[in-house]
Amino acid sequence: MMTKDEFKQAFLDELDTHFSVAIDEATDYELFEALSAVVRHGYSENWRRTRTEDNRQQTKQVYYFSIEFLPGTLLRSNLLNLGWLDQAREALHDLKLDLDQVALAEPDLALGNGGLGRLASCFMDSLASEGYAANGNGIYYKYGLFKQKFVDGYQVEMPNDWTKSDSPWLVRRKGKAALVHFGGHYTMIEQDGWLTPEYEGDQVVLAVPYDIAVVGYHNHVTNTMRLWNAEIPSEDEIDYRTIQDRRTIEDLTSVLYPNDSTYDGRLLRLKQEYFFVSAGIQSILRYFVKNNGTNAWDQLPDEVAIHINDTHPAMCVAELMRLLVDDYRVDWERAWQITQQVMSYTNHTIMAEALEKWDVNMFRQLLPRLMDIITEIDRRYAESLQGRVDGQIIDRTRIISGNQVHMAHLAIIGSHSINGVAELHTQLLETTVLNDFYNLYPDRFNNKTNGITLRRWLQLANPQLSHLLDEQLGSQWRNDSAQLLKLTKAADDPKVLNQLAKIKLANKQKLAQLIKQQTGLEVDPQAIFDVQVKRLHAYKRQTLKLLHVLALYRDLKNGIDHPKRVVIFGAKAAPSYVYAKQVIKVINEVAKLINHDPAINDRLKVVFLENYGVTLAEQIIPAADLSEQISTTTKEASGTSNMKLMANGALTIATMDGANVEIAEAVGDDNIFIFGLNKDQVNQAYADHSYDPQQVYNQSPVVKSVVDMLIDGTIPACQAEGKALYDSFVQANEPFFVLADLESYLQAQARVETAWQDQEAWAKRSLINIAHVERFDADHTVQLYAQDIWHLTPLAQA
Ligand SMILES: *Cc1c(COP(=O)(O)O)cnc(C)c1O
Repeated sequence: MMTKDEFKQAFLDELDTHFSVAIDEATDYELFEALSAVVRHGYSENWRRTRTEDNRQQTKQVYYFSIEFLPGTLLRSNLLNLGWLDQAREALHDLKLDLDQVALAEPDLALGNGGLGRLASCFMDSLASEGYAANGNGIYYKYGLFKQKFVDGYQVEMPNDWTKSDSPWLVRRKGKAALVHFGGHYTMIEQDGWLTPEYEGDQVVLAVPYDIAVVGYHNHVTNTMRLWNAEIPSEDEIDYRTIQDRRTIEDLTSVLYPNDSTYDGRLLRLKQEYFFVSAGIQSILRYFVKNNGTNAWDQLPDEVAIHINDTHPAMCVAELMRLLVDDYRVDWERAWQITQQVMSYTNHTIMAEALEKWDVNMFRQLLPRLMDIITEIDRRYAESLQGRVDGQIIDRTRIISGNQVHMAHLAIIGSHSINGVAELHTQLLETTVLNDFYNLYPDRFNNKTNGITLRRWLQLANPQLSHLLDEQLGSQWRNDSAQLLKLTKAADDPKVLNQLAKIKLANKQKLAQLIKQQTGLEVDPQAIFDVQVKRLHAYKRQTLKLLHVLALYRDLKNGIDHPKRVVIFGAKAAPSYVYAKQVIKVINEVAKLINHDPAINDRLKVVFLENYGVTLAEQIIPAADLSEQISTTTKEASGTSNMKLMANGALTIATMDGANVEIAEAVGDDNIFIFGLNKDQVNQAYADHSYDPQQVYNQSPVVKSVVDMLIDGTIPACQAEGKALYDSFVQANEPFFVLADLESYLQAQARVETAWQDQEAWAKRSLINIAHVERFDADHTVQLYAQDIWHLTPLAQA
């Protein structure tokens, strides 16, 4: 424990030691660095102890391999988890400083694109907080996710060279480096009766870990997130080196691929994947051997679980096999059994373009030995099924087919557990894309609906709401979100509902200030704050929201009134995703048109905030009244911003997609606005190609009048982009059913308006949403992973 005065002293000491400055001379970044130094002292002993205790108790550990992590900032979350947040706040207040202001000096750690990376970071926080020995394993990208600016309404990408500012949270551990080999040739030679590969002409890269402490909530557990950086091996490690070699090595971990669903950058991307997989698995085995020697491999599954988060780390299967067989001389069969017991895999999408496949020739050139290992895994897989199942099923499920390596198949065949990320998603995996595998291995499939850490998304993001919850429930909910259900007792208490509404209003006032500061726009905090924040993607249908905005604009121009509304977008588009960038341009032009039309007079405002990321999300989400979760049904595997918004009392307008289905189940039909085609209708339309958007357009005057606004000159300065959107909506078999769902969406928005008229009833719905968030708490989710998949028990808590 730390008192306010002790904290103050420690902070002043750090400021003095590091910068020799008085408070009033210090920059915000210096203040932040001094605070972070106090925090590091707060966890350093626990960090060391957690590592050594894992070791002493031989507790099983999970290693979570993910090509993306999106932690955001760490100062306040570390303070919260250490139990020092209030003391720090008060100590700074005494010194006439505002902690939240100082905290803004910390740049986001943006080593991910969106949902996938953020999920990994929520899990890291929850695993430590639930007391599990868990390790993140990822890549130290020199350039994180690009910074987004709008110039003339267009997205412009700026480099995000976050390593320049020397994050205080990272510890470089050169002593734990590993060598990773690419390319060249190998021949098998016999050594002591064992066939061993001898390499020639390969490129050797030094993988150096940068570790970040992951502080558990009030429990003395501090885990590690390890990010690998590619460096040039020193002369004694390797003796040849050209400038060209040096450059390609340094480029390896240079950029995060700014694309969260499809992939590109092919060869370099494949290199990145192998790089962090190989370095990670080598370090796991080195640690295991140090503790157990080289003769206890059967114990590996008792001590180690390796999780493959999406297909990018699927090579874990082959790399573990390679190391066991080649380096440690374990028999193939035994190595394979061990591998399957150790590995588990999460699938994050049913979209074909995101299920990675690599060209066999490219793969072989880059990773000749691994290609042969995979070929052997594939051969044995096919052989094991020969004569037992239909040959066509074998062909469809093989790892290598059509001269391509199917990474999802490798992950599935090599794992004992395959999970989807929401009930609907898992069901779709079982019945469609992975149906063959499901029929072969039904026991391996399970669902683990995503979750979010309420520490960041409620306690830190919404301190006032947290305070109200303390008053109503006691502070136990902070440790145990099941307590939140008790909030339903206050559902009819006008005093509580009133307080809830007041807190929402205060959060909206704060966001209004931020909007004013960033865009110059004045928005009315009394209006409905209607929020859609997520990556820009056709399937997420920011376009549907845009069409609703156009419908409102048309009505207001025609004297048809609506409640005041502020529509808030936050979204980055992948730089190479032309359509997504066209959507951004049109939204920005529509915003400009509406926001400056005197006839609208504040009835409607459209705000597109630049550079959506974790920190901006923390500012927007507590201020939302309405959460837009309007993806094409079957396309959004789970979604997690839907959960964050619900936890902050926003009501959801949604299709029955991803985890929206479970939100609807949790809160009940009266407390959510559902619209659109259901999964059977969507799948039927795909199957019989029966969707005809032209027909919808011609038969519905509502649809036609709104969609025509994109091409009739209503919106200045984006003719080409408006036309591109228009064409996309009416093309034959349009895959996202924008027009098909439009009328139903507009009707649901009309129900939102009706509900908004009764503010107390709205607050009641909001309260019921907050009360039912437990099943989306990542603490709960990781417990299920730990029990069902990884078989972990929490560390004994000190
Ligand atoms: C939660 C989160 C996401 C994921 O949002 P979805 O709506 O689930 O796609 C993406 N980006 C950031 C910064 C987030 O915090």
